[in-house]
Amino acid sequence: MQTVKLLINGCFKDGYKNKDVINPATEKAFAQIPVASKEQALEAIAAAKYAHPSWAATPINERQAMLSKLADRLQENAEEFSRVLVQEQGKPLAEAAAEVLYTEAFMRYFAAYDASAEVIQDDDDMQVEVYRKSLGVVVGIVPWNLPLLIGANKLGPALVTGNTVILKPAPTTSITTLMLGKLASDIFPAGVVNIITDENDLGATLSGHPDVAKVSFTGSTATGRKVAETAASSLKRLTLELGGNDAGVVLDDVNVAETAERIFAGAFMNCGQVCIALKRLYVHESIYDELCEALAKIANNAVVGDGLESGVQIGPLQNEMQYQKAQKYLADGARDGTVIAGGDVVNRPGYFIQPTIVRDIDDSSPLVSEEQFAPILPIVKYSNLDEVIVRANNSEYGLGGSVWSSDIARAKAVAAQIASGTVWINHHLHFGPHIPFAGAKQSGVGVEFGKEGIAEFTQCSVISVMK
Ligand code: NAD
Repeated sequence: MQTVKLLINGCFKDGYKNKDVINPATEKAFAQIPVASKEQALEAIAAAKYAHPSWAATPINERQAMLSKLADRLQENAEEFSRVLVQEQGKPLAEAAAEVLYTEAFMRYFAAYDASAEVIQDDDDMQVEVYRKSLGVVVGIVPWNLPLLIGANKLGPALVTGNTVILKPAPTTSITTLMLGKLASDIFPAGVVNIITDENDLGATLSGHPDVAKVSFTGSTATGRKVAETAASSLKRLTLELGGNDAGVVLDDVNVAETAERIFAGAFMNCGQVCIALKRLYVHESIYDELCEALAKIANNAVVGDGLESGVQIGPLQNEMQYQKAQKYLADGARDGTVIAGGDVVNRPGYFIQPTIVRDIDDSSPLVSEEQFAPILPIVKYSNLDEVIVRANNSEYGLGGSVWSSDIARAKAVAAQIASGTVWINHHLHFGPHIPFAGAKQSGVGVEFGKEGIAEFTQCSVISVMK
């Protein structure tokens, strides 16, 4: 494993101490990371502030080329990144390789950003143009489930639009982000890209600092509220991508075998630790038994293990706290429903839980009403479609959702009534750099990806000419 350092003002730095990084598949330390002090966080903000004017003045084609070069380097080092990602995050190697590939593809999309002004009026009286200017210093705060991809999705749009950046990954998954810093260090001018780590204690220093113009935060809704509070003092621009409790609604006309496979993929990817994973499934009573049985069979056959072992489909939970939380949800499922697959931890070192399916459960169970973020899927029976739409919407969250039917028109009519940022039909958990991604209700504020998402890293600025 290569040594990783903080990146501040173009220099690699040690932290004020080192910290072990635990591999969740073994519970053993496999590497160390430097931990930044508060003074180093302030140093990173000062460096980013100093670097901003000349970076903003750098021609867009040069900024684009630098971002493309970072994508090239990531591609060249994809195998190493994937293997380290497995060890720090826990996901199977194929999923880690997909995260690295997605990271590269998202960067290339951001690098192709069209910065030309939009002419919105040009007639005999007036010419009105809309420009998109950089904001200044952008802070990106990242969770532990998709650390590389989510970090890069803050870095890319911020840089191409002329902002300077401080990235702060989650304490348990900082290595691949620091490795990205190593690749970026001699591409970008000093201070343009800064990467610091913490022990969950520097977020408020970053989001509350008056020299930070924008915070792009991904994490839990509870922490998102704290970020909004600290950012309020200087009315920073905010993008908050928060928690979710996505419902899947299965109509009575699906092909059960095919639907079960796709639902399993949408619920159990990354060990269920995806904001837009399918987290509660509503199934029509006419096919309830059949679909429960099909999902239980898939769960029982899924290969659980260390992500570096070949053939593994489901890795461990990412960290001990999440492992403890997952066990509480296992107990909720056993108490409030019937466990038809899994239901226990795996008897080996590591934060492993058997892929679990719980039936005969209702909305009052915390396993259904809360975000479990674990490989445990509750399946709720329904008989009335109008009523189940109300139940699917009865949540503080509104990130994603899905409708399953062989009749697309019927599915679309249901999808239109689901109160979430994205609704998938006959799949779940698909996203891409060109597709705007937004949380409704307390799942978020603002948009990521697509031209709408990139625009959030800019100040809209109008020049109006009287003719
Ligand atoms: P978390 O909220 O605990 O931590 C996220 C980040 O915030 C970490 O880097 C953490 O160090 C930092 N942080 C902690 N306290 C802070 C503070 N007071 N101010 C600023 N930053 C602070 O989330 P997590 O447990 O790492 O991630 C899981 C959660 O993230 C789930 O709820 C999941 O749904 C959500 N998530 C959402 C999306 C999305 O796009 N909507 C994507 C991935 C994960």
